[in-house]
Amino acid sequence: MSPSSTTQPTTQQWIERARRALPGGVSSPVRSFRSVGEEPLLAAKARGAHLFDLEGRRYVDYVQSFGALFGGHADPRIVEAIQDAAPLGTSFGLTSRGEIELAEAVLSALPWCERVRFVSSGTEAVMTAIRLARGITGRALVLRFDGCYHGHSDSMLVKAGSGAHAIAGASSAGVPDSLVADTVIAPLGDVEAVEQVVKTRGRELAAILVEGVPANSGLLVQDEGFVTALRELASRCGALLVLDEVITGFRVAPGGASERFDVTPDVVTLGKILGGGMPIGAVAGPARFLDRLAPLGPVYQAGTLSGNPVAMAAGLASVGMALDPIERARLDANAHGLEAALAPVCARAPFSLKPLFFGSLFWLWPGDGAPPRRPDSIGAIEKLRFQRLHARLRAHRVLLAPSLYEVGFVSTAHDAAVAAETATALQGALDDLAADESLRAAG
Ligand code: PMP
Repeated sequence: MSPSSTTQPTTQQWIERARRALPGGVSSPVRSFRSVGEEPLLAAKARGAHLFDLEGRRYVDYVQSFGALFGGHADPRIVEAIQDAAPLGTSFGLTSRGEIELAEAVLSALPWCERVRFVSSGTEAVMTAIRLARGITGRALVLRFDGCYHGHSDSMLVKAGSGAHAIAGASSAGVPDSLVADTVIAPLGDVEAVEQVVKTRGRELAAILVEGVPANSGLLVQDEGFVTALRELASRCGALLVLDEVITGFRVAPGGASERFDVTPDVVTLGKILGGGMPIGAVAGPARFLDRLAPLGPVYQAGTLSGNPVAMAAGLASVGMALDPIERARLDANAHGLEAALAPVCARAPFSLKPLFFGSLFWLWPGDGAPPRRPDSIGAIEKLRFQRLHARLRAHRVLLAPSLYEVGFVSTAHDAAVAAETATALQGALDDLAADESLRAAG
């Protein structure tokens, strides 16, 4: 054999091949690492709290498939469920037992729900929930919040315009103005702004849409009463309250944010943990709403791979863990342990760095002021600090998502040893940055 035929391509060669074959070298933009100015990290394998790159370097991973993994990577229960299901058929295009069982498990966690419709992503779940709300109410307008993310369907790629919050603009090329006109954007936490929309345009409003805990522009924890206020305002004008629990579902409580805040939405969207790392999404709610979907009702929705048997099997294992009190206690203990390990390191940081936690969701906020509640608190200095910190943490073998707008995820595999490993790496990263004057607070 010639030497060249045995030589493995280098990481750089893989990156170049990726850039030739995939737009930006990726299948989803944040993975390009452009927002932190680094070369992308290519994953080879992962287990529990750790991920390995193509050269065998081991990282503590807080990306965790952006929150899809309750038990960490390649949890043996999920792997076994997939191995059992796959030989029986990878897709039928017919109803199978797994989707009935997973629907029943979802309903057991969400007692206010009576039906579940499975789809293949969180994006599809939100798209379906919005269509359902519009079909039920016969209205077009959707109110959502600046800083929340609800997937990449056309009508969700609308951002707050400058000036009055009620004027929106497309946040992506290719989204027509006609869709923008059907969206109103309000600032997070601003109940008065929502009241104003309800007062002036309440009769046009099909849905008020909000994340259970806003976690897509950093972790923007709101007052406990915020979602309750939205519940009341939606009811007042006959709009549906759609709670997007793609991240928070099964994570912040067995019943997600609706349980945690004791609020009953009209419809909930789910994803991530629901599929244990397999492609999935779902819409759930009372029969009087969900039965308006085809084939019973006039709101059309369908999918070749919806209720996919392999995804359902993985989902059953994943949801089973998330509903198990012992596993939940482990998750909470791990999150507390990480917070306790990081807090003293952050307190000694050469710039302001606060570890913000909401259960197993966390965000290292590199800002001088109070923890932000709106995305506009994130400025240039915070982005610069995060960029430098991300690169140094990577060098010390801890992987945060490559954007300040993404949060970190703790799993049941992130135990005390992993927390200690993370704290040591963070200390090393901050020591590396100690002499960097550009990261200090201005003035
Ligand atoms: N809603 C929320 C709250 C999300 O965080 C996401 C994705 N991170 C989505 C919807 C879209 O889910 P997906 O990426 O599976 O389409």
